[in-house]
Amino acid sequence: MNYLITGGAGFIGSSLATYLAHEGHSVTVVDDLSMGKKENIESKNIQFIKADVRDSSKLKSILKNQQFDYIFLFAAIASVADSIERPIETHNINFESILQILELVRQTQDKLKRVLFASSAAVYGNEPTLPKKEESVIRPLTPYAVDKFAAEKYTLLYANLYNVPTSAVRFFNVYGLRQNPASVYSGVLSIISKQFIKILNNEKAGFNIYGDGEQTRDFVFINDVINALLLVAESNESKGEVYNVGAGKYTPLNEIVKAFEEVAGVKLPINYMQARDGDIKDSYADITKLSRLGYVPKYTIYEGIKEYFAGLLSHY
Ligand code: NAD
Repeated sequence: MNYLITGGAGFIGSSLATYLAHEGHSVTVVDDLSMGKKENIESKNIQFIKADVRDSSKLKSILKNQQFDYIFLFAAIASVADSIERPIETHNINFESILQILELVRQTQDKLKRVLFASSAAVYGNEPTLPKKEESVIRPLTPYAVDKFAAEKYTLLYANLYNVPTSAVRFFNVYGLRQNPASVYSGVLSIISKQFIKILNNEKAGFNIYGDGEQTRDFVFINDVINALLLVAESNESKGEVYNVGAGKYTPLNEIVKAFEEVAGVKLPINYMQARDGDIKDSYADITKLSRLGYVPKYTIYEGIKEYFAGLLSHY
């Protein structure tokens, strides 16, 4: 099969690209390397094109010259904090480029099986009802969340209005190797893991927790996410539909630290700080809809952290 992945040098995109290439598929990655890394995608089955997804003439030439079976739209300013700093750039990348690509796909792709757009649990905002179902109240509170929701809606419109086979997923907190721990906007698990690496290297380490550490998130391991992406992309009933992608469980931050301590065999000094205004206390996904496609998350938080940390140790 022939795959196109935008943002394919980033965390989730490169994990998927590497998996697909390993399975013998052809993968084209488009990424401007603003956050992603070229070394994430070194495989003979991956063609890398360094390009900005806002460059419509470049995207047009890629889509005119190749017929793809599957297209994954992951390129984005993936940090909420960054979107607050740069709302217009976020809108151009996270929304306008998606609409542009959908339109190009409509014009050029004849044998396409699916376009899949990466949305986010951020669209639910701070409405407190849990767990989050796909039809729960949507309350986007940041430029990132507004653009994700709008792009997700357009993606699904293209199925309903123009018969372009599309789906969308709302990722909860994905973790795993290749998440860039150097980024200040990186997910909390990659920031915590970096501190454990420091301790093992006899460097000074510590971690600030805002609040009592009992705030929860739905952390889902990258291998389960890849499985979910393929199930959604390959299913017939998922056309024109959006799916939560999580583990369907909530884990307090304190428990994450404990799991790392157990796996690494060392203690992490924690500073408990005053809770930040506006932080969402709890979040987790109802994954009933995704389960109907055959999804069963295989990794407990402990197993995921164990595999993640082992990968990090061999990497450093
Ligand atoms: P990431 O930052 O690792 O990957 C995004 C990639 O997009 C990077 O490689 C970056 O270089 C590329 N990119 C950014 N702007 C670009 C542009 N203008 N042109 C071309 N490439 C560009 O993020 P990720 O964690 O892999 O996330 C993948 C997708 O999933 C994103 O759309 C993100 O918003 C969404 N998402 C991720 C999570 C998570 O937990 N990681 C949660 C919710 C949603």
